[in-house]
Amino acid sequence: MRRKIIAGNWKMNKTPSETVTLINELKPLVESNDVDVVFCVPAISLTTAVEAVKGTNIQIGAENMHYEENGAYTGEIAANMLTDVGVNFVIIGHSERREYFAETDETVNKKVLKAFEHGLTPIVCCGETLTQREQGVTIDFIRQQIKIAFLNVSAEDAQKAVIAYEPIWAIGTGKVATTEQAQEVCKAIRECIAEVYDQATAEAIRIQYGGSVSASSAPELFAQPDIDGGLVGGASLKPDFGKIVNYK
Ligand code: PGA
Repeated sequence: MRRKIIAGNWKMNKTPSETVTLINELKPLVESNDVDVVFCVPAISLTTAVEAVKGTNIQIGAENMHYEENGAYTGEIAANMLTDVGVNFVIIGHSERREYFAETDETVNKKVLKAFEHGLTPIVCCGETLTQREQGVTIDFIRQQIKIAFLNVSAEDAQKAVIAYEPIWAIGTGKVATTEQAQEVCKAIRECIAEVYDQATAEAIRIQYGGSVSASSAPELFAQPDIDGGLVGGASLKPDFGKIVNYK
């Protein structure tokens, strides 16, 4: 049985001091023995967040990192800087990074490899546009994203990865994919992993759904056989996140 993982993606929200306030507010609400709980916060708040969640079940993730070890990359953050401050997870290839910061399947792959090299768990994002869905190429497109993201990643590492399926048309729009749509793609992702690796890897890897997840949509989504939790944007900044974590 895969353990569910529910992660908040705070995006570009909350100052470091606001981060402490929000974590203190959410702490009692997200207590759970059943699921992994991760808060992915802006880089400048990572140290503060790690401190603020001490003694709780919450783990901290970054929203991005660079794929090089170190060097002349002004403004960027390296994997060992994340681990040094106690970060365990990192979102890789979010559609907003792909759209506004020119990330490609290739840079996603480099980042995934670098994350594993440093013992970070990547939350690897994939997802189709509305046009792709309407043209019926969703599964082909997602398979391509996944295959490139996991190029040269060992089966042993792949088993530890988290994949977040986030249809772009459902992000921040209030338009959540139907349970059937979400399950169909998450199942296809698992089949793709089984093809690239093997059945054991496919059974171990955790696949989240993301895109306008709310306290009301979470229970049905997370009950699907191939959906192992969620990557939650807007609702992760509200007390509702506690209801999403304790969706049962
Ligand atoms: P949303 O964001 O829940 O606000 O749609 C999800 C995400 O972008 O990870």
